[in-house]
Amino acid sequence: MRLYTVEKDGKRFVAAGYAGSEGLWPVKECFGIEADCMLDIVCCGEKQAQLAAFETKPEGEAPLKLADVTLCAPIPNPVGDVMCLGVNYYAHLVESNKAGHVSLAQKGHTVYFSKRVNEAVACGGVIPSHRDICDRLDYEVELGVVIGKDAVKVPREDAQGCVFGYTIVNDISARNIQEEHKQWYFGKSLDGSCPMGPCIVTAAEFGDPAGHAICSIINGELRQNSNTELMMQDVPGLIAELSSGVTLKAGTVIATGTPAGVAMGMNPPKWLQPGDTVECKIEGIGSLINTIGE
Ligand code: MG
Repeated sequence: MRLYTVEKDGKRFVAAGYAGSEGLWPVKECFGIEADCMLDIVCCGEKQAQLAAFETKPEGEAPLKLADVTLCAPIPNPVGDVMCLGVNYYAHLVESNKAGHVSLAQKGHTVYFSKRVNEAVACGGVIPSHRDICDRLDYEVELGVVIGKDAVKVPREDAQGCVFGYTIVNDISARNIQEEHKQWYFGKSLDGSCPMGPCIVTAAEFGDPAGHAICSIINGELRQNSNTELMMQDVPGLIAELSSGVTLKAGTVIATGTPAGVAMGMNPPKWLQPGDTVECKIEGIGSLINTIGE
């Protein structure tokens, strides 16, 4: 099942969709689930259990179609900062090392950092270019993990049980600010720098988070092209490691790092420019498409 946050006639609500179908079923009206927003479901085991009964597509015609609504980011206002992994694909570690951003010595331990997301940008939305302070804007397609149950000291073998579902995150990065300020927080957190969507695919449908093709396409040009099985720290591993000392609250979004092929790694770099179209694509979820604003 796919879960969307959508707007229609000025109202925002959660609706379920299914692979291969354009139909949408508002979960409150159609499934009787008392949820006004995605986090009402993601943070409530009881509502998740109710929802699980609808994992397969209901019979009959859908009350709405994707074309009838405006998409929002699935979790427009995440709980706390988005937790992020840096250089989690070896080829990206190598290109980041060449660009002077990280040391290859980083290979031994996972890099964790965070990203402020005041409001996640929807699929179809505009990513501000912040040209007054940023002259090197970059894209990073990433698999986003949505935690559905507070995770405390969860062993690797139980980690998948804490995952509600998966989405696509574009970890937009202002490279000049990252460099100037050393710590990445500011350069990763500019307003509008976290496109997310188009939906959350439930863990039951997505299956093993390893083995999904992941790519980004800028103005029709394939830039990043990899597979989630190439993560150095995989999803069960990162949940086990982080939850060994930090409670991962239900509703937390974790961006699992990006493969090689970002602008920073190109010679010369092709930084994002106003008017560019950025497509981030993950097999089993779909495409998150945005344009760069002025
Ligand atoms: Mg990233």
